Amino acid sequence: MQKLTILGATGSIGVSTLDVVARHPDRFQIYALSGHSRVVELAEQCLTYKPRYAVVADQSSAQQLQQLLRPGSPETEVLYGVEGLCYIASAPEVDTVMAAIVGAAGLLPTLEAARAGKKVLLANKESLVMAGRLFMDAVREAGAILLPIDSEHNAIFQCLPSGYSPDHRAGVQKVLLTASGGPFRTTPLEALSAISPEQACAHPNWDMGRKISVDSATMMNKGLELIEACWLFDLSPSQIEVVIHPQSVIHSMVEYVDGSVLAQLGNPDMRTPIAHALAYPQRIDAGVTPLDFSQLADFTFTKPDFARYPNLQLAIAACNAGQGATTTVNAANEIAVQAFLQGQIGFTDIYRINAQTLDTTVDVNVHTLDEILECDRLARLQATQLIAKVVR
Ligand code: NAD
Ligand code: MG
Repeated sequence: MQKLTILGATGSIGVSTLDVVARHPDRFQIYALSGHSRVVELAEQCLTYKPRYAVVADQSSAQQLQQLLRPGSPETEVLYGVEGLCYIASAPEVDTVMAAIVGAAGLLPTLEAARAGKKVLLANKESLVMAGRLFMDAVREAGAILLPIDSEHNAIFQCLPSGYSPDHRAGVQKVLLTASGGPFRTTPLEALSAISPEQACAHPNWDMGRKISVDSATMMNKGLELIEACWLFDLSPSQIEVVIHPQSVIHSMVEYVDGSVLAQLGNPDMRTPIAHALAYPQRIDAGVTPLDFSQLADFTFTKPDFARYPNLQLAIAACNAGQGATTTVNAANEIAVQAFLQGQIGFTDIYRINAQTLDTTVDVNVHTLDEILECDRLARLQATQLIAKVVR
């Protein structure tokens, strides 16, 4: 029986994880769940799964959750804050941690899980974008098992030869990272500045949280994923090619020196990579409808246009510049996307804020956790000041 902590249980990935878990009560037991401010949803999950711990944002949310739980789930202890998250990520009883908090807030608990040598199912790509070296070192030193949940990275992982490592490339030449192109792939460029948050969050193929939905529309998500892939598979940016494949059926590919290209296909449903990682190296039912090839339309592939997706180009440049730049661009983007979702800035302002923050605050000497957190803080401050100028 695998004992599981889900960080970010109330989010899109968290809910899909619980859906897979519920199909296999003989294999998985929920040890702990976290939800930030969606206390009512978290309470419902606790009443169903009866975890040992539940973690929320702060003391007042903790009191609210305790009151909701008292009659139905008195065995669940409520913790709060980063300390609570780090505790449930590293407690000795835990085997597996699903890291599905959105944004930089996921870094500390996910790193704790790696340092504690857990099986870490990584949805929170921001951990690698901010602290790739530190995170991968922690995984290695603690003997943690790191399995990618991001559908593209999970696909690449499935297409790589067994035993693939930096010293054993086994004929791998490059990785083809597929992207849907988001909802504005064919929108006239001059119409992009008037895009509303609701339009940006309406992804054509995937049902996701609002932040990653906006990132998919700007393709910053693909930029963050390219950085993530560099760390996960020890590649340089030049070994990764981004390919727009609007149907989102091929989730990514690996090209070998002999001309073979291996792809992983499936319906766009995150329960596939989640089930793959939960059961790895076995396979379990994920509740996903199989592909029906007779119903598939044409597959198309194009190169991304940086005039339409300047955030992708920015993230690739940051990846080439180093960790200070990737931490900075990630932080600026979180602030800019939040401002866009709150109606403070326009869709195309997201790029301007990100680029200007990167221009003005980058410090490439970012190695320790303290340096990373300071870099993140400064970039947020700078992005916030730039947004204030746009709003004025
Ligand atoms: P979401 O917004 O639906 O859920 C986010 C979760 O994080 C919620 O449980 C929320 O309570 C929690 N949370 C938010 N802010 C927090 C904070 N400050 N401290 C602690 N917890 C906090 O997001 P999502 O779409 O499920 O994405 C989660 C992660 O998975 C992201 O890193 C995203 O990039 C990645 N991811 C998501 C998908 C997808 O299909 N949704 C696909 C690939 C990767
Ligand atoms: Mg992805």
